[in-house]
Amino acid sequence: MIKRRVTRTVDVGGVKIGSEYPVSIQSMAKTDTVDVEATVSEIVRLEKAGCELVRVAVKTPEAARALSQIKGKISIPLIADIHFDYKLALESVKNGADKIRINPGNIRDLKDLDKIIDVCGEKRVPIRVGVNSGSLTEMHTGAGNPADIMVSSLLKYLELFRTRRFKDVVISLKSSNVRVGIDAYRKMANECDYPFHVGITAAGLPDEGIVRSSIGIGVLLLEGIGDTIRVSLTGEPVGEVLSAKNILKTVGARNFGPEIIACPTCGRCQVDLVSITKKLQKELKKVYGQDKPLLIAVMGCEVNGPGEAEGADAGIAFGKGKGAIFCKGEIVKTVDEDAAVEELLAVIRKGV
Ligand code: SF4
Repeated sequence: MIKRRVTRTVDVGGVKIGSEYPVSIQSMAKTDTVDVEATVSEIVRLEKAGCELVRVAVKTPEAARALSQIKGKISIPLIADIHFDYKLALESVKNGADKIRINPGNIRDLKDLDKIIDVCGEKRVPIRVGVNSGSLTEMHTGAGNPADIMVSSLLKYLELFRTRRFKDVVISLKSSNVRVGIDAYRKMANECDYPFHVGITAAGLPDEGIVRSSIGIGVLLLEGIGDTIRVSLTGEPVGEVLSAKNILKTVGARNFGPEIIACPTCGRCQVDLVSITKKLQKELKKVYGQDKPLLIAVMGCEVNGPGEAEGADAGIAFGKGKGAIFCKGEIVKTVDEDAAVEELLAVIRKGV
């Protein structure tokens, strides 16, 4: 069980962010926000995949005005991503944004920030102060520890929030360098009790981006740091949500239904373990609730098979053309390879 860093709670359009609540999943629409139809369609796909909060880019007053139409057609909180122009934040709040994300690297004038705090305070709209290593000019001199620079510039920026007693703040410190990002979040965790939005920025195409994000976000979550996460991928946004679920599941932060552990196979394996595992994964979705935890082991031989299958809720350890089915640590039957998936599903259906 992960011991979470204790934070205050911030309510974003009904989704509570903070240590008292489950780590939530965010993503960002990749459409032009002005194109309401395309944006809504993408957000609905994200919702179906399990996205719990969604952000959209607000580049123009027209995009800010589109928020009210988008909000009426989706069922998760909508976050306006603001850069450079504070007036876009004001317009977004007016049009129903549930949270504003601002970047201290490009909304630097404290008079502008003061106006955003005024409007958000009046409407109880939370603000994510999202530092991004790429947009902090202080980072580009090459002097100093990058994580320290990110944290100190953020702390300076947060002074006005403290003076104004504006508490609905979420923090992020994203770097494309995993080590710098982890260091920055760790350092900031000692400085405040604001909840953290955790992610690795510009993580890249899915094959590399998922690895970078899993390491960066996973390390922090295992230390109890992180209250909402976004996996940033150069690609299909639904993939961000599925990866976020896998990260949360892997670190034990949330359950998203059955989890299969399967051996990688080697020369000892005498069955088609890849096909069996894929078929089991597909069929399990139909027969088992996606909110109930269940650990299933599918193993290729007697080397590690019985041990893993015994330790899981249910499992199968194969030999030559046959497999021993385990349930709660006991062998319940031995079956032919061809019938393995159906027989294992029958055991699971009976109740594990
Ligand atoms: Fe190979 Fe057996 Fe290990 Fe699977 S369990 S990788 S088949 S040794």
